[in-house]
Amino acid sequence: MCQPQVHLLGVRIDNLDRQQVLAAIKEFVVSNRPHQIITANAELVYRAWHDPEAARVIAEAALVTPDGAGVVWAARRLEGVTLQRVTGIDLTADICEAAVREGWRLFLFGGRPGVAEEAATRLEARYPGLAVCGTAHGYLEPAEGKKLVTRIRTASPQVLLVGLGAPKQEFWVSQYLEELGVPVCLGVGGSLDVLAGRAQRAPGWIQRANLEWLYRLLRQPSRLRRQMALPAFAWRVWWAGRRRV
Ligand code: UDP
Repeated sequence: MCQPQVHLLGVRIDNLDRQQVLAAIKEFVVSNRPHQIITANAELVYRAWHDPEAARVIAEAALVTPDGAGVVWAARRLEGVTLQRVTGIDLTADICEAAVREGWRLFLFGGRPGVAEEAATRLEARYPGLAVCGTAHGYLEPAEGKKLVTRIRTASPQVLLVGLGAPKQEFWVSQYLEELGVPVCLGVGGSLDVLAGRAQRAPGWIQRANLEWLYRLLRQPSRLRRQMALPAFAWRVWWAGRRRV
């Protein structure tokens, strides 16, 4: 029988593929209650391992999907389960297709000024009939946060994509989830930059070789500090898994 969840360093990851996640998203929209979806990579799991606040936010999320080769490897080593990656950018594509069919509205929040607007323009061109009901950049003053929540509430989207990078976007969604009242709130990291044509996703063969982290590091060396979490994560998982082998 398929194990519905795995626990990696104490963090729950849901064992669902893209289709199953989309089915859950449809149920969230029908329920009209707010839900947070987190796509968890190794950096975020490691953060939760040593930050109780991050652990709480992840534990309270409606869905936590495996985003990244490190999480897939850890699930195999610690629980003998093969997870399928479900990334923010892949989910965004699935959501856009469903949004056209189902008449859902999207709100895009995050990125430098202009990025969310450009992403909206390109998405509406790629998915004819798609309705983006609002955009906002991700460099607001803290005092402007409340105004943005009111703006999003008024626009009343079914799906809110938040691209502030992890874990900032997870904390932001968790803080405002109930006030926002948006059925599906999904953290998408740097995906808005990719959708706006300002950044490129790693080519397919690099993704399949589980080297997306290296590609991103080489293109953006400033990621080195945060990616130092990766060897620490690998060591913890290896150590925790030594009893299995
Ligand atoms: N960002 C933002 N506000 C901030 C910090 C970051 O909108 O205060 C945006 C940034 O412009 C970029 C994204 O968040 O579009 C972070 O991308 P990154 O690739 O670092 O995120 P990851 O996918 O690794 O979580």
